[in-house]
Amino acid sequence: MAPPSTKTFINKKEYNIIMGIFIKKNIIKSISHIAQQSHPKEFIGLLSGKKEKQDIFIEKLIIPSGGISGKGFASYPIYRSPYNTLGTVHSHPSIPLPSKADLNLFSTNGIVHIIIGFPYLLKNIKIYSNDGTEIKEFTIIGEKNERS
Ligand SMILES: [Zn+2]
Repeated sequence: MAPPSTKTFINKKEYNIIMGIFIKKNIIKSISHIAQQSHPKEFIGLLSGKKEKQDIFIEKLIIPSGGISGKGFASYPIYRSPYNTLGTVHSHPSIPLPSKADLNLFSTNGIVHIIIGFPYLLKNIKIYSNDGTEIKEFTIIGEKNERS
């Protein structure tokens, strides 16, 4: 077995060195809530947070003005965010599988992407890397864990 890489995350080829995805519980709740409110339209948001070594912490959900819309999500221009943008989140009124357009978007707009499918519960959330690989394991962290 090769020793763990100590290189920092640079591009999609290095995705496989990501060890963990951590996402705040209140972000999961917000995504679920906004998706339900937007149904049957899709909503789009940006994920921001930080990378620490091989872990990714999703700490903020940003809904750009005009970002709640119907079809054509993938053509939405991702603008420069004041935060450290990690990737995108959007809803599907169906199953949370990325479309071809989604894959295109993923590959050019960050390193981690969430799709939430109907009926927008936790179990309908899927996380993908920027090459469209599903990241099956992620950790939800509660508010109390923030203080240390
Ligand atoms: Zn989509």
